[in-house]
Amino acid sequence: MDQDLKRLIDQFIEENKENILWDITRLVAVPSVEEAPEPEAPFGPGPRKALDMAQTIARELDLETVDLDHKAAYAVVPGERDEYLATICHVDVVPVGEGWTSDPWTVQVRDDCLIGRGVMDDKGPAVLTLYLLKFLKEHGGALRYPVRAILGANEETGMQDVEHYLAVEKAPLFCFSPDADFPLINGEKGIVRGRIRSAAKLEKIVEIKGGVAYNAVPSKAEAWVQAAHAEPAEDIEVEEARPGVWHITAHGIGGHASLPEGTKSAIGVLEHYLLDHQMVSEKEAEFLRFAVRIPDAPDGSLVGCAADDGLFTPLTLVSGMIYSEEDRMVQTLDCRFPTNTNGARLKAALEEAAGSLAEVELEGEAKPFFKHPTSQELKACMEAYREVTGEKNAQPFTIGGGTYARHFPNAVGFGPEHPERKYPDFVGSIHGANEGAYFPDLLEALKVYILTLLKLEELDF
Ligand SMILES: [Zn+2]
Repeated sequence: MDQDLKRLIDQFIEENKENILWDITRLVAVPSVEEAPEPEAPFGPGPRKALDMAQTIARELDLETVDLDHKAAYAVVPGERDEYLATICHVDVVPVGEGWTSDPWTVQVRDDCLIGRGVMDDKGPAVLTLYLLKFLKEHGGALRYPVRAILGANEETGMQDVEHYLAVEKAPLFCFSPDADFPLINGEKGIVRGRIRSAAKLEKIVEIKGGVAYNAVPSKAEAWVQAAHAEPAEDIEVEEARPGVWHITAHGIGGHASLPEGTKSAIGVLEHYLLDHQMVSEKEAEFLRFAVRIPDAPDGSLVGCAADDGLFTPLTLVSGMIYSEEDRMVQTLDCRFPTNTNGARLKAALEEAAGSLAEVELEGEAKPFFKHPTSQELKACMEAYREVTGEKNAQPFTIGGGTYARHFPNAVGFGPEHPERKYPDFVGSIHGANEGAYFPDLLEALKVYILTLLKLEELDF
């Protein structure tokens, strides 16, 4: 990197870091979990207020802002052309959950780490993109392409923000989303979810339930079964709930559905127990012998779904939940698939494996996306990253999905998290308690983003 430019960026960050911290604090202080819509607040009052606050911060930095029906907004630095470059972050957050040691809406600073809901996902990065624009406005000279910092208010619960943005605005030439990991995410698997529903009626099973979400391997599953007796077993607890009905609780190791390696599905543990101990009728057993093939092989190989295209890691198929619905059993499906298969093929394979034992439903298919690392815009991002961090061998990578990037014609996930770096134990992860971010790493990310945009401005799209 040019030494004068390096000095200029360093000086800009030094002069602005107190204000960056203050603006992250102000934005985190607006609780912005989705709630029922209200007039002028399509995702509830919190996300609306956070979107307003982010635009207030942008205007204080002397940036123009445009609000898109309180679903999304953007700040912009003008340029010569109509086509523009962009970043996209979100200002909504996931619920607080249990286990915080301080107020989640008040940013705490401890050993250079910021703690608060959204400091990393994604309010901290959102503020960084506003300061990126401030740098471009003050020091970027006459830009060829305008640059927008897009702000969404519904990333965590349905991505209606980006849908609305693309319905009312032309898509950017290229966009990166600081809502992911460094170095750079250049591909995401396809995603489809669904359910299998037993043809057999519940007979000996009174009730069955386990898991809380499609996209998580469950750590607990339970059944209430008519039986004279039940034996305890490994990972299984039993108790007589009432005369003749036994409550069986199975324990596993939970995890994210896109990364099933190292997990152990409590649904699988429960199904094996019910089968091995002959706790169910023959009809129930026929369904469970089919259903258990999903937790038994998270690569989908026992139900004809396995796929590997060499670009992505192999397909994953996870059952996040099981429950009784009326008098049938339902087991949910979350499938992350590479480019050599699709929803229709997966449905056909599952139907063949199920035969007459279950109905199969799949819905909400999102296709895989893959951006070639040799494209000029990905090269610009990676060069900036390597120059700033000194990580000469850093390479883009692919994930199980689903970030903002797949919604745009030309976009990638680009930082700011560093899963490989070690932080103090009191720094919690995104979506968890004590969500934290190491402030010097956020400032380093800003440096990467500034340099990236300066390189992107040089390109002919
Ligand atoms: Zn996020």
